[in-house]
Amino acid sequence: MPLRNEAANIAGEIAKLRHAIHAEPEIGLDLPKTQQKVLAALDGLPLEISTGSGLSSVTAVLRGGAGNAASAGPVILLRGDMDALPVTEETGLPYASRIPGAMHACGHDLHTAMLVGAARLLSARRAELPGTVIFMFQPGEEGYAGARQMISEGVLAAAGSAPVAAYGLHVTSNRLRCGLFSTRPGPMLAAADQITVTVHGRGGHASQPHRAADPVPAACEIVLALQTLVTRKFDVFDPVVITVGSFHAGTADNVIPDQATFLATARSFSAQARSALAELVPRLARDIAAAHGLTADAQYATEYPVTVNDAAEAAFATGVIAEAFGPEQGETAQFPITGAEDFSFVLEQVPGAFVMLGACPPDRDPETAPTNHSAVAVFDDAALADGTALYAELAVRRLGLG
Ligand SMILES: [Zn+2]
Repeated sequence: MPLRNEAANIAGEIAKLRHAIHAEPEIGLDLPKTQQKVLAALDGLPLEISTGSGLSSVTAVLRGGAGNAASAGPVILLRGDMDALPVTEETGLPYASRIPGAMHACGHDLHTAMLVGAARLLSARRAELPGTVIFMFQPGEEGYAGARQMISEGVLAAAGSAPVAAYGLHVTSNRLRCGLFSTRPGPMLAAADQITVTVHGRGGHASQPHRAADPVPAACEIVLALQTLVTRKFDVFDPVVITVGSFHAGTADNVIPDQATFLATARSFSAQARSALAELVPRLARDIAAAHGLTADAQYATEYPVTVNDAAEAAFATGVIAEAFGPEQGETAQFPITGAEDFSFVLEQVPGAFVMLGACPPDRDPETAPTNHSAVAVFDDAALADGTALYAELAVRRLGLG
C-alpha cells in the first residue's frame, strides 16, 4: 500500500494528537506536556528514544532491518518543531488553546503530529529499511534556536554516523492551497539578525535644545539612513530587509531625554550580504551619532542563518512529491521566504531540503487568509496525512526503497 494511503488510514489518530497538542500549547525550550504527548504516542514503536537535557527535545532513532551488521546503511534525519507562540488564540475552534497567551499560531502542532505519524509508518516498514532514520522533535524554534541546542546535545550523532540528508516541513495557513508542497534549490528562507542601537546624548529642557544634546533627531536619522543603506550598498538581486520594530525615547514633550534606543530586524539571503550588514550597520549608526556630537552603541547580533536547500536534495524532494502525490501537488517556489527558520543550523551541516505545505482551510482564500502567527490563523487537518506521507516518503526513497 502506498505510504500516502497508509497515512490517510491513520489521519484520524494524527489529528487527535494534533488537537491535544494544540489545546495545550507551550512556548520556548521547555515543553514538558508536549514532550509527554510525543513520548506517549511513540510508546511501543521500535525506536531508540532519548530526551534533551537543556531542553525538552525528543530524539528517536529507527534502525532498519535491511542493513548488514558492518554497515547499518545511510542515516536520514526528519525534523518537526513543537513550540507555540505568545499569542492568545481567537479562532473559536473546538480544540483551540485553553491557555491564554499561548497558541500554536505557526502550525508546529501539525509538524509534531505528522512526524509521529511518519515514525509509525516507517516503524511498520522497519524490516525492509536499508538504513536509519532520526526523528528530531524540537522545542524552541520561535526565537530560541532550539535546533542549535539539539545539535550541540548531539542529535546529528544520535544514530552513530552523520545523516546524509535532512528534511524539514512547514505548514502555512495562507498563500498555498491545502495540500500543495513548495520548495526550491538554494536559499529557502532568510537569515534573521537583530540590530540594537542606543544613541547617547545629554538631557535637558526641550525649550533650550542648544544647552542639551538631543539623541532623538540623530536616532531618527539613523532609522532613515538604514533604508538608504539597503538601496545603496546592497545588490538589488541579493536583497536585504531592515525593519525598525521598536523605538523608544523620552518621557514628556518638554524634556529632552538622555538617550534614544531602537531595535530592528535584518533579513538577508546570502553570507556576503549578511556579513556586509554586520559591518555597515553599526558603522552607520556610530558615524551619524558622531556627526551630531553624540555617541551610539550599535550591536549586530546574528540569530538564524539563511536556510539553504541543497540543490540536489531540493530536486530529490520535488521528484518525490511528483511521484507520490502527482506533479500538480508540488511547485518550485520562485522566491525565498523572508521569514527565518532554525532548521538552517541543521542544513549548515547536513545537505537537505525544507518544504512548505499549504494548510489553508477550504472555506478561506489562500490569498487573503490570515498568515502564520495570527491569532485567527487556522491550519486544516486535511494537510496532516500529506505531511506525514511526505516525511515517510522522503526517508524511504532517500534510503533507496520505494
Ligand atoms: Zn514556524
